[in-house]
Amino acid sequence: MTDRVPAREPVRLAVQGVEGVDDARFPVRRIYCVGRNFADHAREMGAAAPASKADRGTPIFFLKPADALVNDGIVPYPPGTADLQHEVELVVALGRDAPAGVLSRDDADALVLGYGIGLDLTRRDLQAAAKAKGLPWDTGKSFDACAVAGDLWTKEKVGDLGALGLSLHVNGEPRQQGRFTDLIWDVPDILVELSRLYALKAGDLIYMGTPAGVAPLQPGDRFIATMEGADLRLKGTIVGPGLTG
Ligand code: MN
Repeated sequence: MTDRVPAREPVRLAVQGVEGVDDARFPVRRIYCVGRNFADHAREMGAAAPASKADRGTPIFFLKPADALVNDGIVPYPPGTADLQHEVELVVALGRDAPAGVLSRDDADALVLGYGIGLDLTRRDLQAAAKAKGLPWDTGKSFDACAVAGDLWTKEKVGDLGALGLSLHVNGEPRQQGRFTDLIWDVPDILVELSRLYALKAGDLIYMGTPAGVAPLQPGDRFIATMEGADLRLKGTIVGPGLTG
């Protein structure tokens, strides 16, 4: 029996900036995502945004399947939705296993290998229906090809995130833009909070949440996500049979 079930290889992302290595590859273990981490996006989704860091409560986490990660830019339009939406996000890649227990901010920072840009793709109609009934978001957020990421850059190559931001263009039109200084929970904050709930490991990705401007995608759309202030881009196309409703 077992020899007839293929063992799947993990998705691997190229890593740029590893000293002395041209073809470094990052094998993806888990994909954690943060909800409502930019105030402007929280408001556009009809949620209250915290007035200050003291009011921010606890972050919203959800997960995507690691085998749902697209790394070649060819994104199939998923079934079961008439409202696939983009969320452009900073992606954090962990290069070390966390020590046991709740992390300090310094220990959290030491886990980070590098960063990338990704799309948290969302079947917004399914998510909205689940939210309205107080049910879990899983079918809206977790589906085949629901996460897109490009090459990773080491944190040394990226430099200070505080000077950077991200943007998304679809078919040449600007859709989303944000600065990393506007994250309600910054990278160490999120890793500390995740460590209260999960054992973080090398190979984990964290999608850090999206700024305002989320909107529908259609088959044929071409997207370019950019880390502004660094020459890091993610390009791709939505392909597929069209809206299925
Ligand atoms: Mn998101």
